[in-house]
Amino acid sequence: MIYIIGSGIAGLSAAVALKIAGYKVTVITKKIDGGSTPIAKGGIAVAISSDDSPEIHAEDTIRVGDGLCDVKTVRYVTQEGRHAIETLESWGFEFEKGLRLEGGHSKRRVMFKTDETGGEIFRFLLNKAKYLGIPVIEDKVTDLIVKDNTIRGFVTAGRGIINDAEKVVLATGGYAYLFEYTSTQPTNIGEGMALAFKAGAILSDMEFIQFHPTVAKLDGETFLMTETLRGEGAKVVNENGERFLFNYHPKGELAPRDILSRAIYMEMLKGHNAFMDLRDIDNFDQKFPVVSAYLKRHNKDPKKDLIPISPAAHFVDGGVRVNIRGETSINNLYAIGEVSDSGLHGANRLASNSLLEGLVFGVNLPYYVELEWEGISTNDGIINSIRVIDDSSSPSSLPLEQIRKLNWENLGIIRNHERLNKLTSIYYPSRSRPDILVSYLAALAADIRTESRGNHYREDFPNKDPKWEKRIYFRVFN
Ligand code: FAD
Repeated sequence: MIYIIGSGIAGLSAAVALKIAGYKVTVITKKIDGGSTPIAKGGIAVAISSDDSPEIHAEDTIRVGDGLCDVKTVRYVTQEGRHAIETLESWGFEFEKGLRLEGGHSKRRVMFKTDETGGEIFRFLLNKAKYLGIPVIEDKVTDLIVKDNTIRGFVTAGRGIINDAEKVVLATGGYAYLFEYTSTQPTNIGEGMALAFKAGAILSDMEFIQFHPTVAKLDGETFLMTETLRGEGAKVVNENGERFLFNYHPKGELAPRDILSRAIYMEMLKGHNAFMDLRDIDNFDQKFPVVSAYLKRHNKDPKKDLIPISPAAHFVDGGVRVNIRGETSINNLYAIGEVSDSGLHGANRLASNSLLEGLVFGVNLPYYVELEWEGISTNDGIINSIRVIDDSSSPSSLPLEQIRKLNWENLGIIRNHERLNKLTSIYYPSRSRPDILVSYLAALAADIRTESRGNHYREDFPNKDPKWEKRIYFRVFN
């Protein structure tokens, strides 16, 4: 049996592809509609137009990745995009006609369906999995069982030990929910990374966390105010109606994501509030039906009201290190999607490349499962060995909500040694608390990287340093 842990785009596409290829598969997931996929908006990047090519898509990805992309992975994913999309379509999924242009892309290449592309793909894949008779079970994986560096099984909260696993595919998403302000769901606290790390898998790039500049939270409901709104004329203003973004970048609302996030955050530190002004967008309800429904749910009128926004943790570039097949450093343990670090994103992710990554690695998995294990290479960085502290008999009582606040304030958009050091002295490499372990590793990596690169910004080291054009790896010290 091949067990797939997680039911986002990576897990479900792998499950469907493996089942169609004749394998026995079971999906175990903490919450079926948890994760980022069901709430993902804009779309999926793939070079299919006549003036585009995988090479141009690769160039854009590498430029945004700011010196840390794994070029082999970038070439692979951008090449395989068309095949992955065609496979999804051959299963019955229909994209809308046309391609959208998004920030960082030099061509129109974002395929979409309504303004809820992730949700549409999620519902389609879930129905397909059910139609194919794939069990999709809600349960939480709490441990991996590894002997002689080979996966033997795992433990779940509800079912205990599962020991008929020939292969295990981690597709558990990222850890953006470990921040007080986030665009993702509570399932995403990095449990897959913690499980893999404790079992002996190597992690990388944990310091790179992408912040989305414009996330709304009305009456407690978090909602990503998509990039396209700004492209269509939405403005960002403070409580005095001033378009302050021009004080930070000549392109104002259309500046790159990381600059916008930093600008809005700095304005908030000065005591201001940030709002999105949607009043200049014509035919709003037709153009943005999902945003419009969100605003209506909270009695907001885009023609009259300013919508309060803030930057929020959105996506994590790092995770369980894998090769282009999704193989980790533990035999028969794969990691795909946001839980993994394939090197596609480097120090910063190009918009709409993550649904693509999840789909390519999921759809292609059947081609690799019979091959001899190759594992990963770590010769492009430095390896740090970390001794895990067995706190099972007295786990920390630090509440998750406090960790999220601490991370937002100290591991967020603007970092420095003092704040990061504060975190690494509060957190520790905990065996029993994945939220603490993952926060510790992310803060430690951010402290070690004494430069600013991609979405990692250090006010005490504001420049990029060529000597840091290398990866930070973590492995467990035995
Ligand atoms: P997820 O979809 O996050 O799924 C993780 C799964 O793991 C969940 O099913 C969860 O229940 C399960 N899980 C977690 N822990 C455990 C455990 N211990 N045991 C069992 N199961 C577990 N990317 C794009 O490319 N284009 C976009 O337009 C886009 N828009 C986005 C909008 C929003 C609001 C957000 C938050 C993200 C967006 N992204 C977008 C990023 C993208 O959605 C994610 O990177 C991608 O969906 C991740 O898919 P995944 O399958 O790896 O993980």
